Amino acid sequence: MPGPIDLHTHSSVSDGTESPAELVQAAVVAGLGTVGLTDHDTTAGWQEAFAAASGTGLCVIPGMELSTRFGWKSVHLLAYLIDPLDEGILSETARIREGRMSRAEHIVRRISEDYDLSWDDVLAQTGVGATIGRPHIADALVARGLVADRSAAFESILHPRSGYFEPHYAPDPLDAVRLVVAAGGAPVLAHPGTRTREDVMPEVKVAALADAGLFGLEIHHRDNSVAGTKRLYELAEKYDLAITGSSDYHGVGKPNRLAENVTTPEVLEKLLSCTSGSQPFYG
Ligand code: AMP
Ligand code: FE
Ligand code: FE
Ligand code: ZN
Repeated sequence: MPGPIDLHTHSSVSDGTESPAELVQAAVVAGLGTVGLTDHDTTAGWQEAFAAASGTGLCVIPGMELSTRFGWKSVHLLAYLIDPLDEGILSETARIREGRMSRAEHIVRRISEDYDLSWDDVLAQTGVGATIGRPHIADALVARGLVADRSAAFESILHPRSGYFEPHYAPDPLDAVRLVVAAGGAPVLAHPGTRTREDVMPEVKVAALADAGLFGLEIHHRDNSVAGTKRLYELAEKYDLAITGSSDYHGVGKPNRLAENVTTPEVLEKLLSCTSGSQPFYG
């Protein structure tokens, strides 16, 4: 489809603020040719997005942003065109979502010792069946008038050094790459260079991921730093990894705007040719 290609967005099925149908409408209004729906650890929004795209001319690439962890660092892995019914994907994402739920309850229990915030406040901000995360706790803090917006929440009460934070279960990135490939999908490391050059994943680990079938690196993303981006270009070149770009749109939950970063048609074509788990939806 002609028009910009934005391969990383979130709906209210995870921590975006728009339903999958509203997100598709926003993509059409923004003039996108192709949008990737990549909610955290779930494919639950795909069908609604497909239905909403029907007749609009928009192409929807179904995907997911898998939570993984390397040491103490959270690593996000975009998984495009996987088989959503693959047993490995289903069991691992269920495990991650359960871990996220108990972790969110623990965080809220601790916050509630110091602030007027209840678990029900958080559930009121979370769609039924949605993958829960700190953004939903942030929205509850905003609704209680304790912080101004999500960003303020992340900089204060939800910050890893606030004393309320705890991590959740997540698989190693190598296991996650293998899982995505086995489900017929293409794995891409999301925003992998947000800090210093030294903070980018060690080369031996990138090499192992590439060996296991890593498709690409999301280099064009607002969170990648100048130093991180430089390092990512070197790694992409050396390990023959595709380069993607995306907005990581979360509706009003983040300042990121649709199509602020984009992926080339050539990379999209390559992505389509090396995946078999599911099909894009041509609306
Ligand atoms: P969690 O996975 O529960 O630890 O929460 C991380 C999620 O919070 C990420 O997916 C981001 O989309 C979101 N997030 C991180 N920092 C911010 C921020 N400053 N403002 C809004 N959302 C954020
Ligand atoms: Fe998010
Ligand atoms: Fe992410
Ligand atoms: Zn994302």
